[in-house]
Amino acid sequence: MIPSILPTYNRAPLSFVKGEGSWLIEADGSRYLDLGAGIAVNALGHANPDLVAALTEQAGKLWHVSNLYQIPEQQKLADLLVEHTFADTAFFTNSGTEAAELAIKMARKYWYDKGTPREEILTFEGAFHGRSTAAIAAAGSEKMVKGYGPLMPGFRQLPWGDMDALKAAISDRTCAVMVEPIQGEGGIRPMTDADLKLLRQLCDETGALLIFDEVQCGVARTGRLFAHEWAGVTPDIMMVAKGIGGGFPLGAVLATEDAASGMVAGTHGSTYGGNPLACAVGAKVMEIVTDPAFLAEVNRKAGLLRQKLEGLVSAHPEVFESVRGQGLMLGLKCKAAPADIVKAGYAQHILTVPAADNALRLLPPLTITEEEIAEAITRLDAAATAIETASASSPV
Ligand SMILES: *Cc1c(COP(=O)(O)O)cnc(C)c1O
Repeated sequence: MIPSILPTYNRAPLSFVKGEGSWLIEADGSRYLDLGAGIAVNALGHANPDLVAALTEQAGKLWHVSNLYQIPEQQKLADLLVEHTFADTAFFTNSGTEAAELAIKMARKYWYDKGTPREEILTFEGAFHGRSTAAIAAAGSEKMVKGYGPLMPGFRQLPWGDMDALKAAISDRTCAVMVEPIQGEGGIRPMTDADLKLLRQLCDETGALLIFDEVQCGVARTGRLFAHEWAGVTPDIMMVAKGIGGGFPLGAVLATEDAASGMVAGTHGSTYGGNPLACAVGAKVMEIVTDPAFLAEVNRKAGLLRQKLEGLVSAHPEVFESVRGQGLMLGLKCKAAPADIVKAGYAQHILTVPAADNALRLLPPLTITEEEIAEAITRLDAAATAIETASASSPV
């Protein structure tokens, strides 16, 4: 019999009833150190007092009002995003997938309105842009698209990081290039600063719009407000979600005035997008993560975690291979199966997330403390030892 919850997830036998900072707590009181943070969502930790206050204060005033009216909380968040980024304008969604939908529509509409429609959007293998029919067509991975055809046309995937393939594929008929500056689901695979610069240059030469998907790597995750800032390039359109709501469903598309020029009244909309509850929380998140002192702390702790992870890799060469990523978006390229390490982590009461390319993802709350980082390494070390012990005693 089918479960009452549609069984699209293989869920771990863990059930949390409470969260506190970097910790998740089960009904019996057992505590787990959370290095997944809801997959980079709980950027400021669980039950962050500032976010609880922002949410409850707004909850007592107004939850929902239609986008037919002015929404002051939405205006405040939009102004903050415009002030702190390349963007001139923002549209609010409830998820990353919805942001991907608008980013694609915006790029197509841009060229349509110019009178020279451009059809092809270039993307990269290993990408993840969400689960809508357009987003799975954009990423193109066999696993995600199988059975869901016919797929939305207009996307072509290039090998990850292959700039020669990009040079060959891009032309003055290319609508846009869509890329995660650091692939998340793809295994914490950063595009190099040099490649991001070249990508910007190729888009400038051909007119193709550059879309960055910063749903996972954005909102201070890498130690800058947005990951592309490290490379010193800016996109024309950017998708944001996950961390921006700190756990409340919220996403956004940011764009330059030019890239957004096709999106006039009546061309797009959302019932819930930009609601007062989500935007009150989002504005509080932005106020916190744009503080230079906050970003400096993220970088300091990221350096600490990275250094300790390098030690962990050296101590367990049969389990781990290398560390990669930026800031507190770190990946351990593994020799053992990442799913086995995640499971061994459960036994040590530490939560990590597997990814493609045999990687283990570490996406702790950006508020993780030094003591918690030390504790995380102790627990990961114990998990790795358990894997070594198991493989030494298993028959060959
Ligand atoms: C999670 C994610 C999405 C999809 O976001 P949802 O909120 O799950 O719809 C899109 N792009 C990237 C890079 C992501 O990590």
